[in-house]
Amino acid sequence: MKSALHNLWHALSMRCEEADRLRSLPDEDFPRLLRWGAAFHTVLCKSCRNAKRQLERLQSTLQGLEREPGVAVGLSPEARARIAKSIEEGV
Ligand SMILES: [Zn+2]
Repeated sequence: MKSALHNLWHALSMRCEEADRLRSLPDEDFPRLLRWGAAFHTVLCKSCRNAKRQLERLQSTLQGLEREPGVAVGLSPEARARIAKSIEEGV
């Protein structure tokens, strides 16, 4: 079992790739400490702030499209599972 200090160090020394991965997941899918670590990293990292802004714009655009009648937006559960599996496998 990892110590609390180790977990804190991991959260505070997070790399861009991990912060980016965590931003793409729903908040409830990872521990609060990692969420804080990703937020801390984003405050300090200009690249991640830009990526976060782009993700927010994309989400806003998709939400706007969802309100349009006749527009189907989103991935099927099967497509989500395939993408999640590929990410986990590092493909
Ligand atoms: Zn970063």
